[in-house]
Amino acid sequence: MTPTSHPSSSADLSGSETQSSVADRLENGYGGAGEATRSSDTLLINEQSRLLEAGGKRIFKFGFGQSPFPVFDPAVQALAEHAAEKAYLPVQGLPALREQVARFHSDTDHVSWNPERVVVGPGSKLLLFALMKSLPEADILIPAPSWVSYAPQARMADQRAVKLEASFETRWQITPEQLEAYCVENPRRLKLLILNAPGNPTGLSFDMQTQKRLASVARRHGVLVLADEIYGQLHHRGEHRAFALDYPEGTVTTSGLSKWCGAGGWRLGVMHVPAELGTELFARILGLASETWSSVASPVQYAAITAYTRTPELDAYIERQRIVLSEIGQWCAARLNEANVRTHAPDGGFYLFPDFEAHRESLAARGITTSAELTARLLEDAGVALLPGSAFGCRPDQLTVRLAYVDFDGSALMKSEQTILEQATTTTLIQGIIAIVEWLNHGHKS
Ligand code: PMP
Ligand code: GLU
Repeated sequence: MTPTSHPSSSADLSGSETQSSVADRLENGYGGAGEATRSSDTLLINEQSRLLEAGGKRIFKFGFGQSPFPVFDPAVQALAEHAAEKAYLPVQGLPALREQVARFHSDTDHVSWNPERVVVGPGSKLLLFALMKSLPEADILIPAPSWVSYAPQARMADQRAVKLEASFETRWQITPEQLEAYCVENPRRLKLLILNAPGNPTGLSFDMQTQKRLASVARRHGVLVLADEIYGQLHHRGEHRAFALDYPEGTVTTSGLSKWCGAGGWRLGVMHVPAELGTELFARILGLASETWSSVASPVQYAAITAYTRTPELDAYIERQRIVLSEIGQWCAARLNEANVRTHAPDGGFYLFPDFEAHRESLAARGITTSAELTARLLEDAGVALLPGSAFGCRPDQLTVRLAYVDFDGSALMKSEQTILEQATTTTLIQGIIAIVEWLNHGHKS
């Protein structure tokens, strides 16, 4: 439209009808419903810790869950070698990489992954979202506690997020009975159950019997399961049991390079969608991928082929991480339990989910009645960065926190001759745990 054909007069352009600026319209358009789109708590605590440190404060960084280990060196070499790869790659991912990913998971998890049904994405986070967005109207069943991004993603995907609450007594896991009850009450709606083992924020996995029973309830009621197994390779005893072993036809599995390969910032995740789920869902996921991220960075995909090729060196690299994480995780849980902060010893990954319930009274005397107040005060008084249980879907007054025990020198500890605890490499982490305990005791005395 040319200026001369525009119906407005100059009076209109400057007059009283121009009531709102673009910024106002945006602000009003959202109607204050910013909850689903504010920054993720995990990324926020990372920023906060960085800012406090930059301001000269000493911070024990137990907030953000990033691998402390270096990226597997042959993969770093491969990335350098492929730095000049510049072409867009197939939306679904490089065929050679999908082959390798399928072989890797078939080998390590004893499942049967079909390379034709593997999707490579820029982090498993976006793949989870792609799955939720590609489903018909569904209930997304999300255990509480569980990872911070599932529920916001479900809402962004216009799905209904349903919370299934777990407790310390059930090792923070939902029970087969809970799933059964929900299915009986809501027989008609499509359901996607998200399971994450070893868990973030709990560090825990299902025992085999419970997992089999959950699988059989899911099968009986036609529940789709999303098994987020990004920490699977980091099961401390190497005993990860893929959910797809017990429910192959109804389990979509996600994983990626972020945890076991130390490469969170490379942004490469993988998803397997079993052929039994048909072609429509799969086509929609690929459609979403093609309209949004197009393909994952080419050099990263080439490097990932190396990362996913099993060699004795790769096995040793993963095994060393398991040993280190197990020793540190067990130590932290034991110290917290001694201080009457009940904490399940971890099965895998690098998180603990301590519960300060036994200190409720003394904390209340210090004006602390919620998990958010607890973590705010621990950061302020003791310089310990943690995330509150409420960020993981727990009731605000439940006094749980997530502790990511990653504040140590993973590069030094990769060397197998290094002893793990009582070394300079873990001093900060040890001091951080002691700082929590002392902060609690200080409260008792005063
Ligand atoms: N699931 C869980 C449980 C996580 O902790 C994370 C954190 N990185 C992700 C998924 C996403 O990982 P990424 O996008 O780096 O593959
Ligand atoms: N998964 C990590 C955490 O829970 C951080 C990365 C993220 O949230 O995307 O702390």
